[in-house]
Amino acid sequence: MNVADRATAGFRQRYGAEPAGRWAAPGRVNLIGEHTDYNDGFVLPFALPLRTVVAAAPARDGRWTVWSELDDEPVDFGPADADEPGRVDGWAAYVAGVVWALRADGHDVPGARLAVASDVPVGSGLSSSAAIESAVLAALVDLGGLDLPTGRWPRLAQRAENDYVGAPTGIMDQSAVIRGRAGHALFLDCRTEEVEQIPFDLDGAGLAVLVIDSRAPHRHADGEYAARRKSCERAAATLGVTALRDVDVADLDAALARLDDDETRRRVRHVVTENQRVLDTVALLRAGRVRDTGPLLTASHASMRDDFEITVPEIDTAVEAALAAGAYGARMTGGGFGGCVLALVDAGSADAVAAAVTDAYARNGFTAPGTLTVLPAGGVTRLD
Ligand code: ADP
Ligand code: MG
Repeated sequence: MNVADRATAGFRQRYGAEPAGRWAAPGRVNLIGEHTDYNDGFVLPFALPLRTVVAAAPARDGRWTVWSELDDEPVDFGPADADEPGRVDGWAAYVAGVVWALRADGHDVPGARLAVASDVPVGSGLSSSAAIESAVLAALVDLGGLDLPTGRWPRLAQRAENDYVGAPTGIMDQSAVIRGRAGHALFLDCRTEEVEQIPFDLDGAGLAVLVIDSRAPHRHADGEYAARRKSCERAAATLGVTALRDVDVADLDAALARLDDDETRRRVRHVVTENQRVLDTVALLRAGRVRDTGPLLTASHASMRDDFEITVPEIDTAVEAALAAGAYGARMTGGGFGGCVLALVDAGSADAVAAAVTDAYARNGFTAPGTLTVLPAGGVTRLD
């Protein structure tokens, strides 16, 4: 059964009624621009064809009941629970968080019954969290006839995750999931939050992106993330800039000379060169030179591996095997220490590249990777 039908079936079975509508939001992957977001820099994500679907109908009692196919039991909560972060925990916090963010923004959120089904892998770095938040947000906005332009949705969904769930994420995931457009990548300036749709016509170029779920356990990811962030903030302070975004690649050598330890220099070099790689990728895509972005992707990976030191053996193996099998470029995507790799490949050779990566994993004794061939898809939408 497809994901939309599973949401409907779940709704019928759980609530013994028909949903009033169905809303779908995609996962996302970041093409390039890693650890640049909290440095006020640039990212270039795109929405995936995998989606989370929410079937929903209003509930007259003014409460919310949510069921997900990932759990047997539905979760029920009322306004007092939604108004106090922490009262709803576990996966339903992502839903309560959206109610919370809407209410905190002054909206009269309608009570609702919701059923969630998803094709977005959970916890793999493809942003199943932003997908569930955004689909629920769209459902509640429509059911309540709320006056909330979509331009404000990413910020609200982010607040749900930051302030109710308690996960410190930037604005990238929600922006991509909400504003993604088929055949485009979303160029996001994390300082100004300005976005621009950049043509990313893989299909027209006979290309595809192979997404490889490394299935590597996330080792110390939270602590390492915090350490990288701190290192960047300290370096910006030493250099007398608001954020590393303010260091131009042309001034990199001079900036590095002012830093006194090698590790910090390498961290800074990653962020400054990564920002430039995003800008260079955007320029190539604007010129329709999709295939030529490959070397930038691979250079991004080398920078994450050698300078930012956030890759793990499974990830490096996937990148090397993809390149050896003919990918035009490959890199880890996401915060690091596990997660996914993406590779730019000829559409016709995606399966062969995936097989080569799977073979390399077997030779190294790693758990088999997940592989998925994608084209950039559209953002959150009402299905019916
Ligand atoms: P990612 O966003 O990379 O998939 P996160 O840890 O940010 O990983 O978010 C995953 C969490 O989001 C899950 O552990 C769960 O709490 C929640 N979640 C995502 N999708 C669903 C879903 N379809 N049903 C229930 N909970 C979900
Ligand atoms: Mg997430």
